[in-house]
Amino acid sequence: LCLHHVSCSAKQLQQQQQQQRRLLNHFISRDPTPAVKGQDAPSPPQFTLAVKDNIATTGATASSTTTCASPFLTSYRSPFEATIVTQLRARGAVVVGKTNLDEFGMGSHSVHSAFGPVAQGPDDDQGQGQQVCASGDYEGEARSAGGSSGGSAVAVACGEADMALGTDTGGSVRLPAAYTGVVGFKPSYGMLSRHGVVPYANSLDTVGLLARSVGTIADLLVGAGGLWAEHDPKDPTSLSPAARARCASGREGYRSSLTAVLKGVRFGIPLECNIEELDPRIRDAWSASAEALQQLGARIVPVSLPSTRHALAAYYVIAPAEASSNLAKYDGIRYGTREDHGGSAGAEIESDAADGGVLYAASRGRGFGDEVKRRILLGSYTLSSEAMDNYFIKAQAVRRLVRRDFDRVFALANPLHEPEAFDLSDLPDSVAMENKFGPTEVDFLLCPTAPTLAPRLADVAAQQQSPVDSYMNDVFTVPASLAGLPAISIPVQVAPEAAEGPGRETGSGAAGLQLIGQFWDDARLLAVAGAVA
Ligand code: GLN
Repeated sequence: LCLHHVSCSAKQLQQQQQQQRRLLNHFISRDPTPAVKGQDAPSPPQFTLAVKDNIATTGATASSTTTCASPFLTSYRSPFEATIVTQLRARGAVVVGKTNLDEFGMGSHSVHSAFGPVAQGPDDDQGQGQQVCASGDYEGEARSAGGSSGGSAVAVACGEADMALGTDTGGSVRLPAAYTGVVGFKPSYGMLSRHGVVPYANSLDTVGLLARSVGTIADLLVGAGGLWAEHDPKDPTSLSPAARARCASGREGYRSSLTAVLKGVRFGIPLECNIEELDPRIRDAWSASAEALQQLGARIVPVSLPSTRHALAAYYVIAPAEASSNLAKYDGIRYGTREDHGGSAGAEIESDAADGGVLYAASRGRGFGDEVKRRILLGSYTLSSEAMDNYFIKAQAVRRLVRRDFDRVFALANPLHEPEAFDLSDLPDSVAMENKFGPTEVDFLLCPTAPTLAPRLADVAAQQQSPVDSYMNDVFTVPASLAGLPAISIPVQVAPEAAEGPGRETGSGAAGLQLIGQFWDDARLLAVAGAVA
């Protein structure tokens, strides 16, 4: 593909993107699918793995570029491989390709990509559900695969990979999983190594896993020799072996028997998730699941997480602020395509101090897409001395409140936090009032993954979704990210008939329900998710 080369002309690029719009366009680079299930069964048993293209891979095959879907890095080759990829290869993974995403992970529909948008097929004629994998000329009917790990979700949904790696900073694994009807898991922050994962917002970034069943993820993560025990000295945010041991003590391991897992487990239903914008079909699926859980011996408890109302705003201050700092290194000198000298990606070229500003501006002006530029501007502003107190500092305060809300409702303590005394007299009256619901002790929270089903790509592209509308898709996923908690999206089918109200449509049947657990309760979360799914 000419897209893989910086020499591609703008016209060629446009033609190719138009052509690709008719395809699912979920892979950026792809290797021939290996015959992994051969006669002489290899040990460990092999499985196919798709890797989001902001996670570094090396090797001699097509999938050894790491582009982040950025015009800056269209042919970038990392000198080293991400720890998570090496760890999975050691457990039998065969990498089948690198998947398309929103540039650097910034987006919710996988449309902000230098390689064109990811699509999933339209509803079938009877409105009986999605045809995720039907590629063809959709004439505007194709749906968003969610973002930013949309390519990974489609690869798994279509059976082209047994498992896919994504990254989840504010929902980028869970949202595409919900839109495409697969399982998407975001582990506790600090559990899986991020060495070799191109950072977006370091204090929030996690590596996530997508698969068609919870069991596939649980086997690798919390089964024998599971990844959750592995510390990576190359990642400063990877929990140390001592901290892992401390976090694991008092935590239950993974169990697969349904009745043993669900008996007496308390599920909190956060009242704040019952928002007006919630599609009634998703609300119905949510309450039907709660009822089903109750019949299986679980307890359902309404809970309030008052600060989560402000979580989305805080996330969209913190994430762009960290991003603006992270992306400063793409200047056309150290990383990225150099604009004025025609240099190639990754080339190390001596900088001419006098030309520096012009070179940076030219390279960054051409090298970043619009959404990334928007985040850089937003982040640079909120970190500036005039705005810092009103935005960044306030957002950090909200983050602490969000964390405290979770600690208050969960029966298990967060092993990373000192037990906090909730002295309401310290708080302004309005906040103290909001806290009157607690304390309530539950094991997990159950809420939708996203407020709507997958929108049509045409509506996303026609700016019927403004940037702020797109950010709204993350309203249920960012709270767990701000608190560093494990969360999983499991698929539910929703009733196919038309719903009432503006913007409600017939069709696509896949939605996601999200389960959130206390920090490092990942094994039990996966067990419960496996029983619920
Ligand atoms: N949609 C969110 C954002 O654009 C989440 C992205 C992610 O988790 N990488 O920031």
